Amino acid sequence: MAYFLTLAGARVTVLDAGLHAASTVPAALLNPVRGQSGAVDAGAVAGMALTWDVVKTLTEAGYHVPHGKTGVLRPVPDARTRARFEQRLPADLAHHWLTPSDSPVPLSPGWDAVLHLPEGGWLDGAAFTRALLAASGARVVRGRAMRWDAAAAELEDGTRLEAKAVVWCGGSVGGSWAGHAATHRAGTMLLLSGPVSSLPLSFGAYLSPAAHSPEGGGGVLGATFERPSPVWNAGPLPLGSLDWLLKKGETLADLSGVQVTGRWSGSRLSGLRAGQTPQGWWQLTGLSSKGFLLGPLWARELAGQIQGRPSALG
Ligand SMILES: Cc1cc2nc3c(=O)[nH]c(=O)nc-3n(C[C@H](O)[C@H](O)[C@H](O)COP(=O)(O)OP(=O)(O)OC[C@H]3O[C@@H](n4cnc5c(N)ncnc54)[C@H](O)[C@@H]3O)c2cc1C
Repeated sequence: MAYFLTLAGARVTVLDAGLHAASTVPAALLNPVRGQSGAVDAGAVAGMALTWDVVKTLTEAGYHVPHGKTGVLRPVPDARTRARFEQRLPADLAHHWLTPSDSPVPLSPGWDAVLHLPEGGWLDGAAFTRALLAASGARVVRGRAMRWDAAAAELEDGTRLEAKAVVWCGGSVGGSWAGHAATHRAGTMLLLSGPVSSLPLSFGAYLSPAAHSPEGGGGVLGATFERPSPVWNAGPLPLGSLDWLLKKGETLADLSGVQVTGRWSGSRLSGLRAGQTPQGWWQLTGLSSKGFLLGPLWARELAGQIQGRPSALG
């Protein structure tokens, strides 16, 4: 929001508690074909293109945003899943079906077919959001907003920050602090000593290159897979979850050449809320597992609406 609001000419203050941000995910996929249903959001193709454009602009401006516009592979286990995916693929989304033996990276045995999405890829969430904030030039105030309305936000010590518009982007932890009824999904990325695959593989869980190791290389195996919760909760990783994740990873590819070097856990919020509330403040939250696919698109849209432009997304 800060990036697109400043592009639209606003002066922005970001008030951020800086705690439990899902956006610090070590490697987020830009994958328009979702989960095991194969659903494709109406804005997915445009959102993916916009995120890549922003990554390019930031990179050209000298910000370091590790990413790979490598394409994404979605192996499917059977003909029924393939048919379900096929039904949902929009005509303007570039894609090819491959046989497992034609996959550009070796897969574990047992897959029926592989959907190749050449315009997908991965990016480092922490680096991307850090670069967006720096490029926006926004003033950053570290603290937690306890109350807010259409024209001000109030901090814990009673300080009031006044503005022409207030946009709440609290994510999972913020929704929980605010007491909103919502569904939170926790998940974990295992940090791997190297990339198992040169392009992301995703079904049930995902394997992706990442840039967390000091040499810049690395990989992750992750998913949001814990039981849905009514509040933010990204606590310790239960052993059963570790086991589940490793098994899911092994169904995708051979993990024997890498070590687990650490982990990152986070929580995402389901149920998109984007627009102006009846109370007059704005919100962009509940981006679910599509924060990097659709977040910039929605942020640009809301920045336009806040500046009085008509909706481009409907
Ligand atoms: C394991 C995992 C894997 C994921 N993989 C992908 C993926 O592959 N692709 C993808 O597109 N998305 C993925 N996501 C989802 C993506 O990370 C989120 O959709 C996105 O990061 C949400 O961004 P946000 O800005 O809404 O919230 P956040 O990044 O959580 O930021 C919210 C910020 O607001 C602050 N805050 C909250 N309340 C207040 C308050 N009252 N006052 C001040 N500050 C406050 C918090 O401290 C935090 O810093 C994944 C998420 C998880 C957990």
